Amino acid sequence: MTEAAAPLEAAAPYESAAPHATPATGPLDRTGAVSLLARCDELAAYSTLPGGLIRRVYLTDEHRAVNALAAKWMLEAGMRTWQDAAGNQCGRLEGRTPGLPALLLGSHLDTVPAAGRYDGILGVLIAIATVDRIHSSGIDLPFALEVVAFGDEEGTRFGRALLGSRALAGTFDPDWLDLVDEQGITLRDAYTAFGLDPTLETPAPDAVTDASAPTGLAAAARRPDDLVGYLEAHIEQGPYLEEAGHALGIVSSIAGARRFAITVTGQAGHSGTPFDRRHDALAGAAEIVSLIESTARGAGLIATVGHLDVFPNAVNVIPGRVELSLDLRAEFDDDRDRVWQQLGDAMAAVAARRGLTVESRQTHSAPAVACSPRLRAAIETGIRSTGQTDPMLLLSRAGHDGMAVADVTDFAMLFIRCRGGVSHHPDEHVLAEDVAAATDAFEAAVRALVAAHPA
Ligand SMILES: [Zn+2]
Repeated sequence: MTEAAAPLEAAAPYESAAPHATPATGPLDRTGAVSLLARCDELAAYSTLPGGLIRRVYLTDEHRAVNALAAKWMLEAGMRTWQDAAGNQCGRLEGRTPGLPALLLGSHLDTVPAAGRYDGILGVLIAIATVDRIHSSGIDLPFALEVVAFGDEEGTRFGRALLGSRALAGTFDPDWLDLVDEQGITLRDAYTAFGLDPTLETPAPDAVTDASAPTGLAAAARRPDDLVGYLEAHIEQGPYLEEAGHALGIVSSIAGARRFAITVTGQAGHSGTPFDRRHDALAGAAEIVSLIESTARGAGLIATVGHLDVFPNAVNVIPGRVELSLDLRAEFDDDRDRVWQQLGDAMAAVAARRGLTVESRQTHSAPAVACSPRLRAAIETGIRSTGQTDPMLLLSRAGHDGMAVADVTDFAMLFIRCRGGVSHHPDEHVLAEDVAAATDAFEAAVRALVAAHPA
């Protein structure tokens, strides 16, 4: 859910990369994994960027094309398919009787600019492969299985992440319809151009007839009673599995993030002004950036100042104003909020000493979301079934669809080792052995939930 990092290079084919020191162990289906990775390559061709770089965003021709391809694979795996009212591609395998609540499996098919070919995509394909195997095995299912390929997780086009999963969770904010992309096209118009109805009608509370069922975008929303939970497989986007020599890990929770716009105001002036007469906004901001890093580091959480504007930004003028961004992430909201309080006091002290003012405005807030113990246990059973003992528990510092889906049903995630922890970059890479282990683990997790489900 961030912009891709430079520099940009052509994507390396997964076969050509150096192998990991510790291959996964267990009953591997490497052939299945290789064809699954070939599907990742096939999807990577749907891009708006030239030269083999991948950029695929919400409600575009490329979105439509990958939905069609995913639908074809879902059909081949035994599912009935449809595109929901928000452009998410869905497939369903009925349980022992039609209409049972569904266990959702999935991830997203959209990307950041100059993306890798596995972030999100791999999770969708593992979900389809899992349903395929379960369908072929003829197992008696006490619930339905659904694959959801979310159309927007990254928020690349409209600057607002999780649009697909928010629609599914019924938490889509009508104000978002006025968001605009780089071309000035509103999200509302983009839905219409994609053939979807952007209205968000909700039925009257006392309505009982079919005619009062949600229409338009609201029809994408699922009801908690219709769901058993949501499982997602995703590349780790961090180095911990690789460092530990593990193919797979269990996600504990998704970090809560708060973002702030901070303005430091001093006094612009000639660069000949003596130090003791200055109110240098940039020197103060530099001290604040340093404080943010040391305070967050000391508290064991993550903080990033990724954007800085200096005014007037001239070589011979003392900066009079600086605007900076802060992105603050932690496993627990209390820790994050406490650090923000400490930073507020520390920034005020810097401002007082330097004769500056500091103002801050929150621009984003998402609570930390914990994975469900019930579903987490199933993921753990799945990983152990591949022969990997003592699976690692990992905090996800990046956002995922599960954050949104958690508003409507329980969720849990399986992390897959990726080379160097690199993601959102053409160098994103996974091993076929790890994908094989992940598919085995994901299937075993679903089977564990089947076994545990009350008859
Ligand atoms: Zn992702």
